[in-house]
Amino acid sequence: MAEENTKAASGKIKEEEVKKVALTFDDGPNPDHTETLLEGLKERNVKATFFLLGAECEKYPEIVKKIHADGHLIGVHSYEHVNLSNLTDQAAMEQEDKTDLFQFRHKDTKKMQSRL
Ligand SMILES: [Zn+2]
Repeated sequence: MAEENTKAASGKIKEEEVKKVALTFDDGPNPDHTETLLEGLKERNVKATFFLLGAECEKYPEIVKKIHADGHLIGVHSYEHVNLSNLTDQAAMEQEDKTDLFQFRHKDTKKMQSRL
């Protein structure tokens, strides 16, 4: 409710205000860490967003499918972790387009994001 998100006249935050944290993880999928991380998130009933590298998705598609099956959001973090700001616009777009080809990308494109 809007009232819960406003500050009291004194400037103190009302006790009822709900604080939220968004968890994001970059550079996966990683064969040493991602599945352990997924188990920890599941135990705590926490959802996160995973910004994945296209080249790593090709190596570990089963981990990507598990991220998706567990209900987390998946975003693109370039194909091979290049610094997109050092590329031409076209080359930067190719990094994302190349990743778009993967079958495991989330079907709901509204939930897709890109992290530069
Ligand atoms: Zn990164």
